[in-house]
Order: sequence, then C-alpha cells, then structure tokens
Amino acid sequence: MSDTDKPALTNAPKMYVHYCEEKGCEEWGGWGNSPSPAVATRWWCFEHFPHKSYEQEQALRRKLEAAKRGDIVQ
Ligand SMILES: [Zn+2]
Repeated sequence: MSDTDKPALTNAPKMYVHYCEEKGCEEWGGWGNSPSPAVATRWWCFEHFPHKSYEQEQALRRKLEAAKRGDIVQ
C-alpha cells in the first residue's frame, strides 16, 4: 500500500462524507475497508482502523507514546 494509490479526490463526481465509525470518535474516516465489492465500505480514522499492517500499528503506537510524553514528532 502506498499514498500514490489514492484516487484523485478532485476528480470524484461527488464527495462522500464519512467519519470514523468508532462510537464517540469524531475524526475524519480516511481509512476505508471492504471485504468485497458487494459489501459497503466501512470507514475509520487511522487510530481506529482495524486493518492496519504491523508496521502501521507500530508507527501509530510510537506516535501516541511520543505525544503522551510531550515530544515533538518529526
Ligand atoms: Zn476514530
């Protein structure tokens, strides 16, 4: 997976507004997952996205821990 795989949102015929579906979370749901084309895509923010790779999960943990300590993440 890479950022270059994203579709060009500026060319989308219509914008679909979807926020993270985690209860109580009001983050933008930028991370979608659908098990098949017949199933509607579900959306989460990165923190709640349940289909992260191991590397993505580790990166998120490091970021959250750094934020807890008040460090600046570059
Ligand atoms: Zn969320």
